[in-house]
This record gives sequence, structure tokens and C-alpha cells, in this order.
Amino acid sequence: MNGRPIVVVGAGASGLMAAIWAAGRGRSVVLLEGTKDGGRKILISGGGRCNILPSVSAPGRFVTDSSPNVLRNMLRSWPLMEQRQFFDAEAGLALVLEEASGKLFPGSNSARNVRDALVTLALGRGIEIRFGVRAKGLEHGPDGWRVSTDEDTLVAASAVILATGGRSVPATGSDGWGLDLLTRLGHRVHPAYPALTPLTAEPPVHAHLSGISLEVTLEAPGPKKKMTTRGGFLFTHRGYSGPAILNISHMAVRSRLAGEARQPIFVKWTELDAEGWEQRLFQHRGVVSSLLAGYLPSRLGETLCREAGLEAGVTTAQLRRDQRLALLRCLTRYSLPWTGDEGYAKAEVTGGGLDLGEISARTMESRLHPGLFLCGELLDAFGPIGGHNFQWAWATGRAAGLGAAGKE
Ligand SMILES: Cc1cc2nc3c(=O)[nH]c(=O)nc-3n(C[C@H](O)[C@H](O)[C@H](O)COP(=O)(O)OP(=O)(O)OC[C@H]3O[C@@H](n4cnc5c(N)ncnc54)[C@H](O)[C@@H]3O)c2cc1C
Repeated sequence: MNGRPIVVVGAGASGLMAAIWAAGRGRSVVLLEGTKDGGRKILISGGGRCNILPSVSAPGRFVTDSSPNVLRNMLRSWPLMEQRQFFDAEAGLALVLEEASGKLFPGSNSARNVRDALVTLALGRGIEIRFGVRAKGLEHGPDGWRVSTDEDTLVAASAVILATGGRSVPATGSDGWGLDLLTRLGHRVHPAYPALTPLTAEPPVHAHLSGISLEVTLEAPGPKKKMTTRGGFLFTHRGYSGPAILNISHMAVRSRLAGEARQPIFVKWTELDAEGWEQRLFQHRGVVSSLLAGYLPSRLGETLCREAGLEAGVTTAQLRRDQRLALLRCLTRYSLPWTGDEGYAKAEVTGGGLDLGEISARTMESRLHPGLFLCGELLDAFGPIGGHNFQWAWATGRAAGLGAAGKE
């Protein structure tokens, strides 16, 4: 241990948590953070309210190219209830459940409170935080690790925890530096891609619907597995967003990056299936668009009618068979005309990253480089919208902090 501190690189969600737990075990900790204040993703999370955790864990909804079992074990290392207790008892942040979404928020509904509480907790545990200092390199010598910085200093360390995040929203300080470093260190790193990102349509054929939101079911059939998700859908000026779109966006992004045919995404706009709509069309006497207006925002209903080839004002009695079939398809299996995505600029997380098999699931220590610990978005895993990504950052950060603190 030779009196050297544990050096944590990155004061985002996972790095702050790692530092707090390492210091809690009596170890001296230095936290290097490239931005002037750290935790910038926490600040912009949950629309400024910070959805700290989900109320129900959902490891099966995480996406990884590594072993899903290893992912489960990492997530389970800090059960949700204990995480809630930590925020309440240690960080002074009592969490409140938003019934409709199942998400947990701080009682103050302030993301700034969350970031500030974690920084205060870290300082209270004696952690030396060096803001505005970026790590540039990492080397291992006979007497431990050395982190070089953009101030041309070398920081000696008994162990290093890398918590530098992925590539999403680079303005928050995460530019993929850690991913590139791990590749150079000989680690298996799955290619990164933007995930939980809005989709675009060029030309923006639905720009006139911008601002309309509704609950939908999306289906993305895949060669290996099909993904179905239900949730909020939002028309934007440039395309499509909302939790359901964000949750399925990686399928679209990955098909684009692989140069494959465009990933089909089918929308079921209401709870009704084709049979349910058939019945409604049969029973309704009058204009088709007024029937639809009972179930859908009227401008969307009119657009779907037009796309199904219906003349304005057509009644259910006047519908030809081909029009009825086209309308049923538009209502229950609408092929979303997305053409691109908003990329890292708007991606809530980065997909891909360090293969989970390359580290110990218990301590998060690299299997190739003893004394190097990894956590957070740098790893090959992300969860759906709903607090799952912070859950991952807190759990893996804590495990890495404890792992590094236990290292002799
Ligand atoms: C708009 C938005 C909203 C979100 N909302 C939610 C939400 O409500 N709930 C949820 O669960 N998840 C949410 N997320 C996802 C969540 O923010 C991330 O999963 C989480 O912040 C990842 O934490 P991290 O510590 O691994 O990485 P990051 O938060 O990216 O932190 C990495 C840190 O490392 C620093 N760093 C990078 N390189 C260096 C270097 N070389 N030297 C020094 N420092 C460096 C960066 O400056 C940064 O502070 C949201 C994300 C975005 C973008």
C-alpha cells in the first residue's frame, strides 16, 4: 500500500460513489475530475430532477454483449433497498416514488441537490477532489501506478479506479478517453455506440405533429431477438423521441453502424389490435377520422388516414377493402420512417464498452492489470430509461471502491 492514495479518475456518478466507499474504509483517496465541478450528467438527468433509481430492479432489460449473468451479479452486489437507504441515511436524500412511472426522485426534485450531496459526502470523508484536472495517461511501475495529468504532474497511486464514462453528451466531460485507454492496455472493448438517443427522419415527414405525445407499443424484430417495449412516444421537429423510442433506439443505431438494412420499428398506436379496430370500424357509423379521434390525438389520426390512402371525410361505410387493410396496418403495425439518430450529442448512455468478463464481478478489478478497477458507463452495459443507469453506476462504483480499498 506504501502510503499512496487510491486515485479515482472521473467524478461522475460512478466515480463519486467509488471514492466515497473507498474512503469509508479508511483509505486516502484522490479524485481527479476534468471539468470544473464534476457530476454534470447528474445535473442534467431526469429533466433536472435526477431519477436516482428505479423502484424495481430489471437486470433482464439491460443490454450487453458480455455475459448477462455477470451483469446480474454486478447489479445485485448492492440491492436496491440498500441503495435507497444509503441515499437517505448517508447522503440526506430521502427518495420519493413517482407512482405513474415507478421512478425514484429526490424529495427536492433537484438534480443539483443530488450532485452537491455526493460531493459534500466525499469531501466529508476526507477525499481530495482535484477539479479541472484531466488524466492523460496511466502507467504501472514496480512501485505502483502513476497517473499523468494535463497539468504535467504525475499522481502516484496504490490503486486506480477508472470512472471516466463513455462518449455520450461529451459536453459533460466524458469523451471516451477511458475506452481508448483500456483498448491500448490490451483489454477487450466492445465498439461504442450511442444508446437511449432520439431517432430522426429525413425528410422530417412528421414535423407537423411535433409536440404530440402518447403511449405506444414499439416492436423491433431482429435476426436473433425481437424487442418489444411500451411507453411514451414523442413527435419532435426532427423525428421521434420519448422513453419508448429511446429504449429501442440502440437497435436502430446498431443496424445503421453495421451498414445493414434499416432496422424496422413497428408502432401500435393504441391498446387495440387489428381485431379490436376491425370491430370498431364495423360498429361505427360515420367519418373514420372522428372514430380515430376517440383513441388518438386527432392530427395523428388524420395523418394515419392520409397515409393509408383514405380521402378526407371518408366514412366507415365508404371504406374499400384495400383501404381498410391499409388503415389497420397503419394503426397496429405502422412502419416508422426513421432514417437516422441524434447520436452521442443527445444519447443518455453509451452502448458497448469494456467486456464484463475482463474484470472480477466482485471487486471490479481488471483481470489483466491488478490494481486497476473499472466502473460505470465505461463497462459494456446499459439499462432502460427509469433510473436503471444510475443504479448501475452506483452499484459498480461502490463495488470498485470497496475492491480497491481491500487491495493490499
Ligand atoms: C441527458 C441525460 C439524462 C439522464 N438521465 C438519467 C436519469 O434520470 N436516470 C438515470 O439512471 N440515468 C440517467 N442518465 C444516464 C446517467 O447520467 C449515466 O448513466 C451516468 O451518469 C454514468 O455515470 P459515470 O460515472 O459512469 O459516467 P459520467 O457521468 O459520464 O462521468 C464521467 C466523469 O469522468 C470525467 N472524465 C472523463 N475523462 C476524464 C479524464 N481523462 N480525466 C478526468 N476526468 C475525466 C468526466 O468529466 C465526468 O465527470 C442520463 C444521461 C443523460 C445524458
